[in-house]
Amino acid sequence: MSISPREEAITFRPSNLFYLASLHRPVVDRAEGIHVWTRDGRRFIDGSSGPVAVNLGYGNPAVLEAMRRQMEKTTFAYRLHFENEPAEQLATTLAERLPAGLDRIFFVSGGSEAVESCIKLARQWAVATGQGGRWKVIARMPSYHGGTYGSLAVTGDGFLTDSFAGQIRMMPTVPAPTAYRDRDNLSMEERGLRYADMLEERIVAEGPESVLAFIMEPIGGAATGALVAPDSYYPRIREICDRHGILLIHDEVMSGIGRTGKLLGGDHWHCRPDIVSLSKGIGSGYVPLGALAAPRRIVEPVLKMGGFQHGHTYAGNPLACAAGLAIIGEMDRLGLIDNAAAMGEVLMDGLRGLAARFPFIADVRGKGLLTAIEYADRETFAPLPADWKIGQRVLDAAYERGLIVYSRRVKGGVQGDYTMVAPPLIVTRADIAEIVSILGDAIEAVARDLDLPVTG
Ligand code: PMP
Repeated sequence: MSISPREEAITFRPSNLFYLASLHRPVVDRAEGIHVWTRDGRRFIDGSSGPVAVNLGYGNPAVLEAMRRQMEKTTFAYRLHFENEPAEQLATTLAERLPAGLDRIFFVSGGSEAVESCIKLARQWAVATGQGGRWKVIARMPSYHGGTYGSLAVTGDGFLTDSFAGQIRMMPTVPAPTAYRDRDNLSMEERGLRYADMLEERIVAEGPESVLAFIMEPIGGAATGALVAPDSYYPRIREICDRHGILLIHDEVMSGIGRTGKLLGGDHWHCRPDIVSLSKGIGSGYVPLGALAAPRRIVEPVLKMGGFQHGHTYAGNPLACAAGLAIIGEMDRLGLIDNAAAMGEVLMDGLRGLAARFPFIADVRGKGLLTAIEYADRETFAPLPADWKIGQRVLDAAYERGLIVYSRRVKGGVQGDYTMVAPPLIVTRADIAEIVSILGDAIEAVARDLDLPVTG
């Protein structure tokens, strides 16, 4: 269990499967609610919903029943041959809940595919409307938008992109709005505007007529650890995109579907993105499912031009969509978006308590049940030495104690180490107390190993 990620990456287990890492994890047996059991009899609390995906929690009976009923009818229908009801209904259900105008839905099988689809739709819209010179998609550094080539081109993380940079055309970036770590005399709101204005500077430098879109996560995930920009950032970004005729793509793969206490992360600021990507929570670990949502004014010119030149075999899969429908139904029935908002407050309080104990926690942030603690020097925000691997150590120490959390260290921008805590939206107050308690024990053990100070 103490094996390092790099050793893991080069050690094969006696199996034909291979992954980047995590080759020495125990074999999963079953999962229910927020708990996972392994074949060797261990029980884990899933404090990160896997990779912030299992929003509904495991084994929901209504979802399993809806899937069983659909499986008995058909598990597949190809979109060029048949319409299918679950896909139609899920599209309608999403359109009713999404911000006004985002009422045209296209289904895919995951987050990277959703991001690729957003970019391709944007590009085809530009071609269809006589703006063929627009192709650049400005992204943030650091950021994570997926592992396929198109989504990697807008991913700001050198660790993930460096090996492939020769094969893809990396897109221009602007700094992610890490205003919490800036040491200047500006207010948070002024910093928010300053970060947004960097987008305009980039657009002007690139030549506005060559810029197609700006892609951002309204609340950051894998690359920035639950990063929330100052309030002033969001409307200014919209204003800048409007001024230059640039589409605003919100990647809500992680922050969407109730995770942050609103249906979309951007709903906290009443954002009006032009195109939105969704995945993770919409399939909640039951099925591979993703989607894009766009308005008619973008989709219609593309359809008139001859159709979206894009599509995957499993797009709009009836089984996946039947599960998605039942997931949204259960989220409504159980009031999970409100629960995410309320339990998010409880979780943030708990994490602030940890920051009071451990002076090397420099920031506690997030919205709803997408939260993170960042390890750094509190005064200067200098990250802890990379070879301490504090995020990985905390992850391992929590894992040994039966708690799953999510840590990453990114190569790009100014980010250090952080741990994300993002349990399923069904989490209770008692669950959160247990998660925070185990996480506290894990951090204390790591502090002892690294000789870091502990107060209280
Ligand atoms: N966008 C965001 C914001 C994500 O968090 C992720 C996954 N972490 C992706 C895209 C890619 O999704 P997937 O792994 O399902 O391809």
